[in-house]
Order: sequence, then structure tokens, then C-alpha cells
Amino acid sequence: MKWHEMRAEEVEEQINSDFEAGLSESEAKNRLLQYGTNELQEAERPNAFLVFLEQFKDFMVVVLLAATLISGLLGEYIDAVAIIAIVIINAFLGFFQERKAEKSLQALKELSAPQVTVLREKEWRKVASREIVVGDIIKFGSGDRIGADLRIVQASSLEIEESALTGESVPAVKSDKPVHGSDISIGDQENMAFMGTLVTRGTGVGVVVATGMNTAMGQIADLLQTAETTITPLQRKLEQLGKILITVALILTMLVVVVGVLQGHSLYEMFLAGVSLAVAAIPEGLPAIVTVALSLGVQRMIKKKSIVRKLPAVETLGCASVICSDKTGTLTQNKMTVTHVWSGGTTWNVSGNGYEPKGEFISEGTESNIKNKSLHQLLTFGLLCNHANIIQKKNQYILDGDPTEGALAVAAMKAGFTRDGLLSEFQIVKEYPFDSERKMMSVVVKDKQGKLFVITKGAPDVITNVSDSLLWEGKRELFSSKYEKVVADMVHTLASQALRNIAVAFKPITNFHDGMQEREIEKDLVFIGIQGMIDPPRPEVKQAVRECKEAGIRTVMITGDHIVTAKAIAAEIGILPMGGKVLEGKTLQKMSQEELEDMVDNVYVFARVSPQHKLSIVKALQKKGHIVAMTGDGVNDAPAIKASDIGIAMGITGTDVAKEASSLVLLDDNFATIKSAIKEGRNIYENIRKFIRYLLASNVGEILVMLFAMLLALPLPLVPIQILWVNLVTDGLPAMALGLDQAEGDVMKRKPRHPKEGVFARGLWWKIVSRGFLIGIATLLAFIIVYKQHPDNLIYAQTVAFATLVMAQLIHVFDCRSDRSIFHRNPFQNMYLVGAVVSSIILMLIVIYYPPLQGIFHTVALAPKEWLLIIGMASLPTFLLVGTLFTGKAKKNMV
Ligand code: ATP
Repeated sequence: MKWHEMRAEEVEEQINSDFEAGLSESEAKNRLLQYGTNELQEAERPNAFLVFLEQFKDFMVVVLLAATLISGLLGEYIDAVAIIAIVIINAFLGFFQERKAEKSLQALKELSAPQVTVLREKEWRKVASREIVVGDIIKFGSGDRIGADLRIVQASSLEIEESALTGESVPAVKSDKPVHGSDISIGDQENMAFMGTLVTRGTGVGVVVATGMNTAMGQIADLLQTAETTITPLQRKLEQLGKILITVALILTMLVVVVGVLQGHSLYEMFLAGVSLAVAAIPEGLPAIVTVALSLGVQRMIKKKSIVRKLPAVETLGCASVICSDKTGTLTQNKMTVTHVWSGGTTWNVSGNGYEPKGEFISEGTESNIKNKSLHQLLTFGLLCNHANIIQKKNQYILDGDPTEGALAVAAMKAGFTRDGLLSEFQIVKEYPFDSERKMMSVVVKDKQGKLFVITKGAPDVITNVSDSLLWEGKRELFSSKYEKVVADMVHTLASQALRNIAVAFKPITNFHDGMQEREIEKDLVFIGIQGMIDPPRPEVKQAVRECKEAGIRTVMITGDHIVTAKAIAAEIGILPMGGKVLEGKTLQKMSQEELEDMVDNVYVFARVSPQHKLSIVKALQKKGHIVAMTGDGVNDAPAIKASDIGIAMGITGTDVAKEASSLVLLDDNFATIKSAIKEGRNIYENIRKFIRYLLASNVGEILVMLFAMLLALPLPLVPIQILWVNLVTDGLPAMALGLDQAEGDVMKRKPRHPKEGVFARGLWWKIVSRGFLIGIATLLAFIIVYKQHPDNLIYAQTVAFATLVMAQLIHVFDCRSDRSIFHRNPFQNMYLVGAVVSSIILMLIVIYYPPLQGIFHTVALAPKEWLLIIGMASLPTFLLVGTLFTGKAKKNMV
């Protein structure tokens, strides 16, 4: 017999599981060892050696190696070996940068790997999907992706979209009953849920019958490709730019060679110098360093609780101009406590804190009669139509489930009711789960006499619409307009205190059958009352909203909650300014997209909206030129998350679907984390600009010093091996350390970056060319001064030029940390950079003063006085540029 043909108990026995307790951890571990992890096999990754070899495929490196070979054949053994050594070290550097980038991308993938809720040792636990084993009991709900093949043993309103397996995009209705026929197709196995398919509605529990490559998906899936490497727009632009830079570098190098030869240098000498210069000047490491900077930034973001799922989002983050945020759980704490209940014309205040079920019901100043019948019904029905559990662990009460439902459960427990107690009187026959479209949830229960009732709870306005009567002072009254007004006024009173409200209603039902739809059930109800709960704002949110405002980013609240509750909270946390508009879902529904676009810039709160409204909001904002970050957690949020520029999913409450659609996941569901991510996104972008500025200015300097020397008919100021050394040392560690730089203090005081802004905007080109020019001139001056003093000691002058070039670059690296000048930042803030610079200086000193290396690098020991010249010349560009900056500022002030 196949799994789908068996009864649930037969499956339980066959598979040696326990539906009540689940597997024990030790049994799960054994099975994991025995059957392997629950993963589809991936194609093998390219091996490390190949990645290493890749580093040599660069055309100029090949030319350099060939040139070196020639010089080796001509007897320049030391040069040849040294150049090859440097090329190999360079390849290692590239290799490690690429490996690091790849590893951190892999780590990211693992961090965002799906988790499932599994019953182990009588407890529902979150476990990584790869660790589930045959026999595990799994709970799932709308928005989840099924992690393994399951035999469904419990289903309520369950629908699963199986297009990945069957091609059928209409979700299949699922049940927990055995299905007959041994070789029916996957699409007909109604009581099975397959790995990789998507729960679109309802909830269910299933037992795992196959994992990994044994699942239906594993059997049809070819080996999965390795994770696609996403490349960011900036990386793409830099790749294109790289080609231009290579051409420019080659032309200039050729110019150096031609001028050199015309000025009387030997062709052989100029050829090797030219090739070395080309290798040094071509910024071949740029893409890898960009990837490293991106991934290092992404790791910093993980520490601040946000996971980037799509690398391009890091760049877009810096452009965000509007954040559309959910209210519950993102702006608020999602720790709900019922503080007011209202039923049949009486209001009770409920005391107590958190989820501890201790507190009193006080009405009109005195402890009131808790035996009030409608209050009883309001509380007990709120507990029956409910999934949340309150678990006592030592002295703590922990919520397992949805906080709104947890609050209702605690309120009932404060009055002395327990779920077990109620379940001994009422049996739950059917459940219609909550969804954000209907904004309500229902159960059908059977009492001891066999009578059936519908219990519905949900947003008060929605429940009012589906009720035709209400309980008033112990009697059932027709829901006339008088009572409608009373209820609406009450909702308004509670909501203006920022309370989130849930109404409860019921009705007896006689003609119930299993196939009945919600709309047949949720009508003609008897309205019992309202429970109002506080959900305090997260303490850090107010500050975060303010910081976003200073950074030119507007925060918009989008919530399913009542307009008055939403307004009260928005005002409290500073989202809703004076004169800011609040728009309700029902108004939005009637508007055309153009009308929405016309007013969207003034709307700060969208209340009582359904998830599908989010898409229109995103589109309207985008039409107005905004770069929109949009949060979401449910299945229906996915289209808006996908359409937004930065889709953000909640790590704790988010469904798999929302996470898969998103580019950023908030591990703590917290709005303040979005702000930190934006700050980091801006910083990463600035850091990339910093090292592009540094690398290119260094390269310009290297080329120009050679070109100017040739034009002036001077000897070579630097020999090939020195050029390669400068390139290796200064391009390596200091450039990487710039990628780790902290954000400038005012990074969140600037306006968002325009998405069309090029990476060289805001004067970067000018900074690169002018600084490169000055570095070239300063190095050449140092060379000329010393060469004039020691015309017979070229090596001495070359050593000075070498040291000046290195020092000029190492000073420049600190300049690059700020858009203004070196004096705007504390150099010791970035200790990586200090370390990188100090170690580069030490390496330079070794090359200059350590005799065995002097021969290789064509250097000689320098007298102390030369260092005055070297430092003076090397810092000249900084002072010249700061000088122009100050005079510029002075002029501006004068105006
Ligand atoms: P946000 O979109 O900011 O997260 P929200 O949580 O209030 O706001 P929804 O989850 O769509 O949005 O809830 C909408 C309304 O439905 C709530 O205001 C509440 O009245 C009602 N509601 C929420 N949760 C439940 C539930 N579990 N059962 C019944 N009704 C609920």
C-alpha cells in the first residue's frame, strides 16, 4: 500500500512515529545519520585550483609572464623570478578575495535557508529544513513552502499550489482522508503534500514520508545548478568601465614605451617596463574588491539583524526614499495584552501584564460580576476560536502562536477559563482560518448535547457587517442602526487609545456540512462584544523614524488595523505629521490609480488595507519617482514585495513566500533594523567609491610619473619590479581596508542617492585625475631633485621615487575616507586601515633596507634626510588639495 492509501494511524505505525509526541531528538539524529540530510543535491562547485588558475587568464598577465620569460632567457634571472613571484602572490590575493566573496555568499544562503515547525519531544520546534527526517511531524500554514514529502494527517481549509510538480497553477484542495488507487498521479493524491510546493491557504499537519532526493521533487529534479551569482548594477557598470580603463591604460602605456624609445631607451627595457606598467595600471582587482566590499558589508548587516537575499539590494538601499512599513510587529512590539473588554453595554478594564494569566476585571470602579453571561461568552468564545497556547516555563509564561490570539487566550484565563476545560465541553468540528483579506476567523463547535455553533472573531467593523443581532444587557437585540452607532462609537473610543480590537460573534447552526464555504458560515451572526488590546510601539522606533526623516526618507504605515488605532500609533511614533493624510482601504478601493498617484505623496498612513492594496501603493509611489522599500509577511504580500525596489520580509513572522520574494529579511521584524540596513547600504556604496577613488588615483599616478619622465627625457624613475610591487602592496590590503571603513557621521543626514547617479558622480572623476596627477608630479619631483644631486647614482634616485610613490598612496588612502578632507575623520577609527598602512610601510622599508632584497628590487638604503623629502613630497598633494578646499570655502563664505 502507498502512503496516500493508508489511514493516518497506519502511516504512524509503518513509519514508526508518534503523532502526539513527535520523534525524540536522538531518534531524529539517528535517522539523519542513516538517511542523510533533506536536501536536493547540487552540482559540484568549481574546485579551488581552477579558481586559482583563473587568476592567470588575464591577457596582460599572460603578456607579462611571456615578457618575463624572455628576460629570463636573456639572462635577467633575478628579475624574472621576482616578477613571477609577484604575479603568483597577486594571483593568490585575487584567489583569496574571490573565495572570501564566494564563501560569504554561501554563508548568506545558509542563513536564509528555510526552517520548518516540527514536533519533537512533545514540543513544536523550529528546525532547519535540511535536518528533518522521515517520521517527523510538521505543522504548516498559508505561505509556507513544504519542506519534504508529507502525508497530511490534519487539514483545515488547506490548499496547496503544486505547479512545480504538476504544472497546474490552480491550488489543489487537500484533505487528511485516505485516497484509493495505488498509481494515481501526484495531482490526485489529495492527502499528500510534496516538497517544494506552496501552501496558499489554510493550515495542516503532516508526517514526513520522504526527504531529499527520495522526494517526488528529488526524483524529477536534475542536479540543481549552483547558486546563481547575482551581479549588482554597480558591478556590471564597473565591468564595462573596466574595459574602457584597460584601453586607456594600454594607450598611455604604449605612449610611455614609444616616447621612451624615441628618447633613446632600449626597446627591451621599455617593453618590460611597459608591460609591468600595464599590469599595474589595469584595475583588474576592482570587481573582486567590490564583491568583497559588498559581502563584508552584508556580513555587518547580518550582525545588525538583516539578511540580504539579493546582492543588488545593497546598492538600492542607499537610494530608498520611502519605507512602507507594516504596523503590527514591525513598528509595534507585537506583545499584546487585552486591557478593555466591552459587551452588552458594559466595559471592563482588565489588569495584569504580558502573557501571565493573572489579572482582574473591573467595571465602573468596582470589581464587577465576573459571572456576567455575555462577558463569559466573549471570553470563552475568544479562547475557543483560537490557536495560541500559553506555556508556563518555570515562572515565565511564553506564547506559542499569534500574539493577537495569545492576548485573547490570556484574557479568558484571567477569568478562570482554560482551553482544556472548554475542550471537554466543546468539540471543534471545523476551522476557517484567519486571513488578512476577510479579517476574521471562524470555528464550528459541537457542545455536549450535540448542538452546533459557529464562533467568529475578527475586526469589529467586519463582524458588525456579518451580524444581524447583538447581545445587549443579557438579551438578544436586532442590530439596528442605533446599536450599530453604539458599537462604532465604542470602537472609536477604544481605538483612539491605540488599542487593537477584536470582536467576537456566534450563532447556532443546524444545516452544517463539511464542504460549506466561509461566506455561507460567516453571516447572520450574533455580535457579543469587543476585546481591546494594547500593542505598544517598539521603543527604538520613534528615533529610527526621525533618523530616516533626516536622511530624506519618508516612513509610511500600511496596516490592516482600524484607522483610528493606526492614526493614534502613527502620531505617537512620529510618522504622521501635522496635516499628513490618512487613507482607508475602502476609499483606496474606489480610487483610480491616477487619483492615488496624485495624493500618494501626502499620505502617511494606509489603514484597513488588504494586502493587494499594497501593490497599488508601491506602483503609485514608484510612478512619483520614489525608490520604495516595502515590508510584508504573508502570501498575499509577495506581489508588492516583489514589485517594490527593496522587498523586505519579516524573519520571525514572515512566510516562506514573502521571504522568497524579498531582497532583505529582518531577523527581528523590527523597523529600526530597516534603518540600520539603509545606513549600511549607504556606507557600502560610499566605501566602494572610496576604494575606486584610491585605486584609480594610484594607477593614474603610476602611469603619469613614467610618462612625464619619458617626455622630459629622464631615465626610468621606477624599474618594472618596483612598479609591480607598488601595485601589489598598495592595491591589496589598504584598498580592502577601505572596504571596511565606518560610515561618515553624516551619512544619514544626506538625501538618498539618486538611482541614476553614476559611481563617479559628485566630483569623483576630478578627485581621481587631479590626485593622480599630483602624485605623479610629486614622485617625479622627488626623483629629479635626488637625481640632480646624485647624477651617477640612478638607483638611489629610483629608490626615492619608489618610496615617494608608496608613501603618497598610503597618505592618500586616508584622504579617500572622506568626501571632504583627511582632517574630517579620525584616522584611528579604522584600525584595519592603520594596520594595512603600517604593514605596507614595513614591507617597503624591508625592500629598501634588507640587503638580500635590495638586489631584487633595485633599491639601496636611503639616508634619513631623504625621508624628509619623501614625506614632504608624498604629503604635498593632500595639502595642496586641502588648500584649494579652504580657499573654495572661504570664497563661498565671502559670497
Ligand atoms: P499589519 O498589517 O500592520 O500587520 P494587522 O496585523 O492589524 O496590521 P491584519 O493581520 O491584516 O493586519 O489584521 C487586520 C485585522 O484583523 C486586525 O485589525 C484585527 O482586528 C483582525 N485580526 C487580526 N488577527 C486576527 C485573528 N487571529 N483572528 C481574528 N481577527 C484578527
